[in-house]
Amino acid sequence: MDKILVIDDSPVQSRFLCSILSGDYEFTVCHTAEEGLEAAKEERFSLILLDVVMPGMDGFVMLKELKGMEITKYVPVILITSLSDAQYEERGLLLGAVDYITKPFNPVIVRARVNTHIQLYRFQMRFKEQAMVDELTGVANRRRYDEESASRWREAVRFELPFSICMFDIDKFKLYNDTFGHPAGDKVIAAVAQKVASYFQRSTDLFARYGGEEFVAVFLGSQGVSAFELMKTVRQSVEDLHIQHNSPVSPWVTISVGGVTLTPRPEDRLEDCLKLADTMLYDAKQLGRNQVVWSNENGEQWREK
Ligand code: GH3
Ligand code: MG
Ligand code: MG
Repeated sequence: MDKILVIDDSPVQSRFLCSILSGDYEFTVCHTAEEGLEAAKEERFSLILLDVVMPGMDGFVMLKELKGMEITKYVPVILITSLSDAQYEERGLLLGAVDYITKPFNPVIVRARVNTHIQLYRFQMRFKEQAMVDELTGVANRRRYDEESASRWREAVRFELPFSICMFDIDKFKLYNDTFGHPAGDKVIAAVAQKVASYFQRSTDLFARYGGEEFVAVFLGSQGVSAFELMKTVRQSVEDLHIQHNSPVSPWVTISVGGVTLTPRPEDRLEDCLKLADTMLYDAKQLGRNQVVWSNENGEQWREK
């Protein structure tokens, strides 16, 4: 059930709003903007009904705050107010409110507007979700990687956590396409992605198709040596799928993996880290493929073969 956040300093008014909409939605009610902001950061709401005139922070200021935060900026906000002057409505809409309702309001109209905006929000979210998934493999796509890797990185910097990033690439895949055809190649990419995805199920893990037959994985909290061990297991699991290939590397489809673990400092850059992982991948290819090469910030390196 969709959740609505109601923020109004008058308990009578907020109760009335909830009663108009009851049955279809769940509600969280706050009587100050400060409380409302906390609630909006904690929970996912499909809509916010916001009173404008309140003691302390007013609705306009709160709206501005909501639109400035990544987690709340897409949530539709309807302003509900006794300020009927057009200049207030203009201000609210320019600040990003989806609608502006003046008191006293007609319950049927409020309900209709709320339903419409929640439906639009659902479509928007579904569309956004689909735009982040790679169609062939069902795993995260490059766009999601770009968005989420940056927030994982910030998390690692903030909490001083070890950050691991790896790139991997299917070995001799051009030869696979040439031998078995492009459609068969597509199936291999999907099968490899599915297999590897099963190892990255934690909420802080990120695994994405980077492009073509290249993938990227990000995970937090592992030391270099255990990240290396994990990726050895992952690499082996792909080989163990026993997808016929007959390349110079192996009878089966295999991957080469390059990665790095470090505890990032504020002055470090994620792009450099990815570049280093890519260099490790290059080394894995040079060393004969179907293997993992890993390094850490102290210049230590682990090689599988
Ligand atoms: P290496 O071991 O050095 O990685 O050799 P490789 O042949 O895999 O490397 P190369 O980069 O030369 O070729 C990658 C191949 O992957 C070429 C391209 O046709 C194929 N490929 C990329 N994306 C797709 C895709 O979506 N589907 C299929 N079937 N093939 C793809
Ligand atoms: Mg490649
Ligand atoms: Mg390749």
